[in-house]
Amino acid sequence: MSNQSFDDACFLCGQDSTYRHTDAANRRAYNCSNPDCGEYEISTRAMRRLENADDIKKEAMQKAKACRDTDMILVIEVSDDDALSIRCRPRN
Ligand SMILES: [Zn+2]
Repeated sequence: MSNQSFDDACFLCGQDSTYRHTDAANRRAYNCSNPDCGEYEISTRAMRRLENADDIKKEAMQKAKACRDTDMILVIEVSDDDALSIRCRPRN
């Protein structure tokens, strides 16, 4: 796992954020500067799925905010049976 971080617009809210690649670059771990957003991991598959789903992004943003300053992190991914999953998990 690389520790290099990249500057990017937050996938959920569009504000300044940084991300790192995790899971062999199949996921990004974002850390957003917006106080109403937060930290989350998202898979590239989920990014494609949510590209235009602003309502789901808004919902995920609130969950990411709730995870901030806890020992949990929000994980957004698409499972093997193609279901979208947005849930908090313990940090590694
Ligand atoms: Zn954000």
